[in-house]
Amino acid sequence: MGEYLDMVRRDRANRKDLIGVMLRALPPFSVVLTGADAGVICPFHSFDVPSWTVRVSGKSQLWECDSCGAGGDTFDFVQSYFGFTFQEAMEWLNGA
Ligand SMILES: [Zn+2]
Repeated sequence: MGEYLDMVRRDRANRKDLIGVMLRALPPFSVVLTGADAGVICPFHSFDVPSWTVRVSGKSQLWECDSCGAGGDTFDFVQSYFGFTFQEAMEWLNGA
């Protein structure tokens, strides 16, 4: 039952706009909007490799870095970026 609830919560979080979430979490200059998608300076690898590497799809709500391989959904981003647990990420996504 707990697992089912987590799945429902995760699904709901993933419906949140990924680009909006990144704009809220990251420094403003690191996100460049390109129509429905965005290019983002990857926060998961050092800057000595080319920076504009995270591709964020507004449609799929998925992101992926060509350089370091980081990627996932909205939840993966919030948990990885802040080092949050599932519960903490949920609270952050809900605007707590
Ligand atoms: Zn990266």
